[in-house]
Amino acid sequence: MLDALYFVGGAAKWQTLPDLPDLLFKGRNSPVTPYTPPTEDQLLAIRVNAGIEELSEHEKFAHAEADLVEAIVEGVGQFAAGEFAPLNRVGDLEGAKLENGVVRLPEGYREAYDAYVEQGWNAIASPAEHGGQGLPFTLACNVLENLGSANMAFNLLPMLSVGAIEAIEHHGSNDQQAKYLPDLVSGKWSGTMNLTEPAAGSDVGALRSTATPIESGEHAGKYLIKGQKIYITWGEHELAENIIHLVLARLPGAPEGSRGISLFVVPKYHVNEDGSLGNRNDLRCVSLEHKLGINASPTCVMSYGDNDECVGELIGEPNRGLMAMFTMMNNARINVGNQGNQIAERATQQAMAYATERVQSSRAGSPDKTPVAIIEHPDVRRMLLRMKSLTEGIRALLYYCAGQVDRGTIGDQAAADRSEVLVPLLKAWGTDMGVEVSGIGIQIHGGMGFVEETGAAQHWRDSRIAPIYEGTNGIQAADLVTRKLGLAGGEAIIGLFEEIARECADEDNLAHLATSCAEIARWMQSEASLDDRLAGSVPFCTMAAVAVAGWQLKKQAAAVADGMAPALADVKPVTVRFFLDRIVPEAIGLKAGATAGAELLYSLPAEQLAG
Ligand SMILES: Cc1cc2nc3c(=O)[nH]c(=O)nc-3n(C[C@H](O)[C@H](O)[C@H](O)COP(=O)(O)OP(=O)(O)OC[C@H]3O[C@@H](n4cnc5c(N)ncnc54)[C@H](O)[C@@H]3O)c2cc1C
Repeated sequence: MLDALYFVGGAAKWQTLPDLPDLLFKGRNSPVTPYTPPTEDQLLAIRVNAGIEELSEHEKFAHAEADLVEAIVEGVGQFAAGEFAPLNRVGDLEGAKLENGVVRLPEGYREAYDAYVEQGWNAIASPAEHGGQGLPFTLACNVLENLGSANMAFNLLPMLSVGAIEAIEHHGSNDQQAKYLPDLVSGKWSGTMNLTEPAAGSDVGALRSTATPIESGEHAGKYLIKGQKIYITWGEHELAENIIHLVLARLPGAPEGSRGISLFVVPKYHVNEDGSLGNRNDLRCVSLEHKLGINASPTCVMSYGDNDECVGELIGEPNRGLMAMFTMMNNARINVGNQGNQIAERATQQAMAYATERVQSSRAGSPDKTPVAIIEHPDVRRMLLRMKSLTEGIRALLYYCAGQVDRGTIGDQAAADRSEVLVPLLKAWGTDMGVEVSGIGIQIHGGMGFVEETGAAQHWRDSRIAPIYEGTNGIQAADLVTRKLGLAGGEAIIGLFEEIARECADEDNLAHLATSCAEIARWMQSEASLDDRLAGSVPFCTMAAVAVAGWQLKKQAAAVADGMAPALADVKPVTVRFFLDRIVPEAIGLKAGATAGAELLYSLPAEQLAG
């Protein structure tokens, strides 16, 4: 169908252009951006990298049996392709709109969200006592993976709700859990995370929103919330019946900085004792940001307490709000890293379809001088294989990380520590690669990638946010070379690299990369100044991520060679080989940057550098 839209008879003519607006705006069932779930590869990663079978041996995850896992992965893939993907293009073109204080989404979004809630996809990993299915986090990652590949902007709605659920689950009182969790878990209500303010971005500790105790009256014991939050994802919309905002604010007399921040739950509509919805709370969406991408995700400037009547409840301990946020930040960052995988998958599928149809020139190395589809040219092959093997690498890292998180929740401390080390790697490298892969997707489309009609540009525009939010990738790398470097007395990170070097002794490049990572980590732990560490943090983070992804891909290739996933028997050895022979050596080359130190960076005063 895509072919018919782009080209007629494989010739490079834009013959269907007059019909294009019709097709673009049709929304549901539009043929413009189909999505085919990579079910086999996802299942392979879930089995090999997350180790789902071993997880299901523990009583907590006993019902995650092979049949159920397959049913979920296939089911959500089909749902995403059928319901979310057809809305991706119209969401980009029309976007979310603010009309008289109400955020409207293009036609079809409400029905698709209703179907998502009705089919129970929101509840996969939430606790059973609040209506969830209590399945491993690994499977929740797969739900988000499919939904996000289908429609990255729309997927942010359930993704943000997960953050709110986790905050209330871990830090809310029993009453708060009973009041808010069932409807958040089902998806009837949605959630938001409110950290950012105009003067508080990466430095969350600088935030100024306030919370004043209410001494008497109907809301005694609660707090009056006042302040402005910016960039709040899905901060206002009508797809869910209520929106539960998690808001960071300061109590009177709270210490300056991050030690004086508390966490509050602030519902859009008050919730009565019997669970019914009461009056509207004093909060509103002031405006929507005009963005580079994810246009269907309303990014809201939110105002709390314009009339001094915005009521919220404290979650957890006073002044411990940032700590509470940290609890779920790990998973939130994994979910953003997952977005790199999602958009890379979608861009790769589109580039493959285009490269198979677009005919240009004969293949230079062939005696046959008939023009061929561009997929036959060596450089296009290189680009396509790069896209595919990077995408599979992010996926392997994603599910390895998710499996470690799941092991952590059943008491495996070493796995919990390892997941902490893996999170910045996945978030930073995964999202950087999402941008790279979707950028290559544009390149493969040639000029048609730069014009908007094909949709290739949308993937790149959408991908660009993921390295920025949920802690920029620079902040992720800083986390790696500070907090994560010292975890478990420094052994968490060293142990990881040593294990890779040991297990991959038969792969020279990979073993070399892992050994280099261990050397850099030791240098950073014992010799380098803080400035030197931070100066080398991003290249080091990339090296570490490539080492882990290569290791996990190698495990996949071995499993496929042993007969797992027969449908991938031809393709997997090639994509893994490409990764090990082309991507890994590039990462080895980053060592110079990782260990160069900060001296050169500070050899010019800021005025001279900027001048
Ligand atoms: C579309 C979108 C959706 C968002 N959704 C939400 C949401 O739902 N909830 C929410 O609370 N926020 C949200 N955000 C905000 C987002 O998390 C912030 O934009 C992000 O944390 C970066 O903050 P900033 O924009 O103020 O950039 P800054 O903090 O000003 O950073 C600018 C640059 O300086 C670098 N930098 C800053 N400090 C340091 C440092 N100490 N060391 C090294 N480098 C540094 C950064 O890495 C970055 O490259 C969203 C943002 C966008 C654009």
